[in-house]
Amino acid sequence: MTTTLIDRPPAQPAGHEAGSGCHAGADEMHRAAQAAGKSEILERYAADYPKGPHDQPQSMCPAFGSLRVGLRMRRTATILSGSACCVYGLTFTSHFYGAKRSVGYVPFNSESLVTGKLFEDIRDAVHEMADPDLYDAIVVTNLCVPTASGVPLQILPKAINGVRIVGIDVPGFGVPTHAEAKDVLAGAMLRYARQEAESGPVAAPRTGRSDRPTVTLVGEMFPADPVGIGAMLEPMGLAAGPVVPTREWRELYAALDGAVIAGIHPFYTASFREFEAAGRAVVGSGPVGCEGTAAWLDAIGEACNVPRRRIDDAKNAVLPAIRDALAARPIKGRVTVSGYEGSELLVARLLMESGAEVPYVGTACPATRVSGVDRDWLEARGVHVQFRASLEQDLAAMAAFEPDLAVGTTPLVQKAKAQGTPSLYFTNLISARPLFGPAGAGSLAQVVNAAIEGKGRFDRMRGFFEGVGEGDTAGVWAQQPMERPGFREQNRRRMEAAAKARKSEEMM
Ligand code: SF4
Repeated sequence: MTTTLIDRPPAQPAGHEAGSGCHAGADEMHRAAQAAGKSEILERYAADYPKGPHDQPQSMCPAFGSLRVGLRMRRTATILSGSACCVYGLTFTSHFYGAKRSVGYVPFNSESLVTGKLFEDIRDAVHEMADPDLYDAIVVTNLCVPTASGVPLQILPKAINGVRIVGIDVPGFGVPTHAEAKDVLAGAMLRYARQEAESGPVAAPRTGRSDRPTVTLVGEMFPADPVGIGAMLEPMGLAAGPVVPTREWRELYAALDGAVIAGIHPFYTASFREFEAAGRAVVGSGPVGCEGTAAWLDAIGEACNVPRRRIDDAKNAVLPAIRDALAARPIKGRVTVSGYEGSELLVARLLMESGAEVPYVGTACPATRVSGVDRDWLEARGVHVQFRASLEQDLAAMAAFEPDLAVGTTPLVQKAKAQGTPSLYFTNLISARPLFGPAGAGSLAQVVNAAIEGKGRFDRMRGFFEGVGEGDTAGVWAQQPMERPGFREQNRRRMEAAAKARKSEEMM
């Protein structure tokens, strides 16, 4: 038995045993994987997650996406197969985000990798872990090096003692973002569940079945959003179904059983393929703002053959409240949006319906058939929509449009702060609040307006730190450091100004 259960990240990560990794050159890894029998899966990834029109975007290790999906599921065990340093980073990040779950790890060295012993070790590990009292499923993930070496997870047993075994390859050189890695696992699980449902009866959801047709929601969202969406669907005689990625295996059957699939996050290409194979239609966009909600309710109602009168009832029930919420908290200012969550276009739509000027939206995700609705809406209003946006493109947009607020990823927000531009982290501050219906309209405006109004504070902060981290204060000295003439006087004045600003802020 070679599985190590990691409750905490290993204290001393080992180096990449095969001397490869993020920096080894994606092309080289790609060629090795093809030669090792992984061409079919790599071709499918190339079609599902196309690179370009620009290069692979910069973001965290993609496997974090699928790891997180598995770790959030009940009765699901997770085993990683990859270099120790990759596993260290992935487990560290998952515990940082509060996973509170063990991650299994099957270590390897050059010998076990080339002799095929690694695969045998993985097979032994799943046999040992497959306890039906504890688990519905075990997810085994090949990271970069085992994928490049062709470790054949596809020949693992499909089930052991009734515990399903799901093997996936999530290499950084085939899956460009962690968002798309979520789809790799969600799609693999849906495929498995679809085949089970096709061959016999399957378990009902723990919470029971809805007596109304349901709308499956695809994409991780704020927990209150599915509840709000359910209320919007009610006048049409529909209910909100499970959210994919699901939190439990048996929810997969209910998700496949939805009357229609709402592709709220449009990059779940493999998952959409499974839904379509089950005969379900996929509807893009989401109920954001007034116009967005009206169009979405129309599309969902029509896909479910709901009579026009009932669709109108649903719209009449919710649109006035959204209109009021938007009018009560208008956003005045220019905002650029960039992120890697997949909901960037929806956020931009809501900002615009709230009154903001949005000249640029960059998303690390690719353009897909399902993202077309939002892209068309935004482009018709003059917004530059950049799919597979790189950090450089996001930064260039911020420089060109000089926004009152930049919503973006960590490095973009860092840059914005350094130049005194108010900014908000997309992942922590925008994704972590409701987006849909009246709740979304009010909530987004609140945080955006507060940030825009904080401009004065950013200017004072920038004045205070002027010159810090640049030139000879960057910590890299070309020669022996010497005190600048007038430095002490300058520093005294800076401290006095800061104390004065603090005092006047306290009095306000
Ligand atoms: S598994 Fe992730 S961290 Fe490891 S080499 Fe691949 S992309 Fe980099």
